[in-house]
Amino acid sequence: MHRLLVLGTGNRKKGQELARLLANLGAELRTLADYPQAIDVVEDGDTFAANAALKATQQARHLGQWVLADDSGLMVDALDGAPGVLSARYSGPGATDAGNNQKLLEDLRGVPVEKRSAQFVCHICVADPSGAIRGESAASCRGRILHASSGGNGFGYDPFFEIVEYHRSFGELSPLVKAYLSHRARAAAGIIPRLVELFAGRE
Ligand code: IMP
Repeated sequence: MHRLLVLGTGNRKKGQELARLLANLGAELRTLADYPQAIDVVEDGDTFAANAALKATQQARHLGQWVLADDSGLMVDALDGAPGVLSARYSGPGATDAGNNQKLLEDLRGVPVEKRSAQFVCHICVADPSGAIRGESAASCRGRILHASSGGNGFGYDPFFEIVEYHRSFGELSPLVKAYLSHRARAAAGIIPRLVELFAGRE
């Protein structure tokens, strides 16, 4: 495998996190910003796994490159796993992080702290230029939804997602801590051995 890997996400902050987590691979990492011809993949799968596969497969085939795609989101226990695969679009068409967080708070109004448990989930797929999935990894990170925003780091639901052991939200914790604990960090750690294998041509 040529050591060029395209990170198949249009989310700039997510792309930065992935690039940082995969930096030691020694591969040339590109993003969709390097490919004006990249397509907007329709994420209509019912699971993180299905959407990660769609993003990796379709973009890889279209670009003729190896693509690593992450599909991720927040699952809140008191909301039966919502927003789940709809995390990016939770507040409807034209959703923003602020709008999604606002809806989350409203949906959890009156839910006491001990019932605000949640997890971030991340599924990573790697596709070869033909679109075949050649590696997968999934991981989660448990926490609790705060009653108010706290901290400005990260993106998405980070300011509301408290890591209970640290008494801090991902918005407050440094990017270094998130790069150690998060769902994406754990999923990236799981895919790295497979990427090394693929780079070395041992398939
Ligand atoms: P995707 O780009 O379709 O995978 O959507 C991911 C969405 O899930 C983001 O827009 C965020 O709302 C949420 N999300 C995923 N990972 C994180 C994270 O690390 N922090 C905060 N929100 C996240």
